[in-house]
Amino acid sequence: AARFAQIPVLPLDEAFAVTAEFKADAFPQKVSLGAGVYRDEGGKPWVLPSVKKAKEKLHQTPNLDHEYLPIQGSDPFLQLARDLVFGDSSLPSSNSSSNSSSSPSPGSGSGSRSKDNTKPQTKNVISFQTISGTGANHLGAQFLAQHLRPKHVFISDPTWANHHLVWTVAAPDVVQKTYPYYHPASRSLDFDGWLTTLENEAVENDVVILHACAHNPTGIDPTREQWEVLAQLFKRKRLFAFFDSAYQGFATGDLDMDAWAMRHFQTVLFGSGPEPKTETKTKTESETESSATAGNDDEVVVNVQSSTQHQQGHPGLCIAQSFAKNFGLYGERVGAFHLSLPLSVSPAGAYSQLLRLTRAEISNPPLFGARIVQTVLSDVDLRAQWQQDLQTMSLRIRSVRGLLRKAIEQQQQQQQQHQQQQQSSSGSVATAITDWSHLESQIGMFSYTGLTVPQVQRLKEVHHVYLMRNGRASLSGVNEHNVHYVAAAIAEVVA
Ligand code: PMP
Repeated sequence: AARFAQIPVLPLDEAFAVTAEFKADAFPQKVSLGAGVYRDEGGKPWVLPSVKKAKEKLHQTPNLDHEYLPIQGSDPFLQLARDLVFGDSSLPSSNSSSNSSSSPSPGSGSGSRSKDNTKPQTKNVISFQTISGTGANHLGAQFLAQHLRPKHVFISDPTWANHHLVWTVAAPDVVQKTYPYYHPASRSLDFDGWLTTLENEAVENDVVILHACAHNPTGIDPTREQWEVLAQLFKRKRLFAFFDSAYQGFATGDLDMDAWAMRHFQTVLFGSGPEPKTETKTKTESETESSATAGNDDEVVVNVQSSTQHQQGHPGLCIAQSFAKNFGLYGERVGAFHLSLPLSVSPAGAYSQLLRLTRAEISNPPLFGARIVQTVLSDVDLRAQWQQDLQTMSLRIRSVRGLLRKAIEQQQQQQQQHQQQQQSSSGSVATAITDWSHLESQIGMFSYTGLTVPQVQRLKEVHHVYLMRNGRASLSGVNEHNVHYVAAAIAEVVA
């Protein structure tokens, strides 16, 4: 007990502390821009219609049992999850189960899928179901620390705060470094700083965490040209890309666009996605339609054999995939970890180690959320509904960005006129942020507002508007009803 008495008290995690403070606030017009969760136009949690329908379908399914999943999770779920990342090779159809029986081929995701749980599910991409994106980050950090043994892990500055904590706890021996990401003066990506840091400081097998899309907290992503430069750098220096994909479909509303960077890296490093579209299998009407609209499918299709030589020596890449945001399944904790290995490497060893780590940590992952995701993704109609749901969420946030920008700028104009009248004889007009275009140019759920710590503090204390200390605002908390209130509050604290 004496030892317990000496335990230092750590500060509460900021994101959860902000939510708790917001909940405890009795002010009727309070606004939460803290937690990264979607809210509808009424400021309420939104159960996606596709998810609602999937739950109804599950309830009507006879003899649905509650058995354990295998250690690696639900295989059909994992294949669908993997396809979302690397491209839809087995889009659902009424006979979708027959799609997974194609013959094994190098780089083919489904071909080597086995009913035997002790064997890898794919030749080159190993997939494990995880406790949402956090669990995938954790499993990846643990596995890489033990088996890739990088000298460093590079984390963007700024980033989702949990990246640092996950690596501190799961991989304490790996030295954490940051790479510059954000240029405050121009409110844009510090791409040169990022490249220079990796060029000068990263060594072979170092891990670099990359936000697949909708960077948290800045809302600024590299352009495709910049991703291309990065992929070449990773290939040349043999750096291990660790994609954190928590917002696929949320950034642009389009699943393929939001997966572009991951697919590009996969193509550059390994020559092909795990299931090239050249695979000989009959496409259903819906498959053909979807791939025709995908736009960038040819990125995934390259000749596996001819690129094998380039892959020698490259360590691989991995993806931590979360379904919390894009399915609105925050509490169900549905996610996946995908490890993509060079074709020359047998995945058996890595697979067995991931089984071991998972067994020790959770034995096997939870069933319910994965069942919902699987039900939606494997049903043509539900999947179409889900894509519409993604549009609903991403379009609403985009429209809120415009509304908020306009409302703040209007408020500031009024303030200025007022000040000019009052200070006509003496004094200068305050120099506040007057250009709010970044609200609109940033993408995803968050805006990196540029508000300072004292301004954030004042927003909370005077106006009951809650956001993160670094000025990150989760814009789903804004809607037509409160946008003028929020804008007036922001205009007041920056004045
Ligand atoms: N990565 C990033 C960048 C995130 O923003 C989040 C969600 N806040 C996650 C991972 C994982 O969240 P979860 O564990 O809820 O899937």
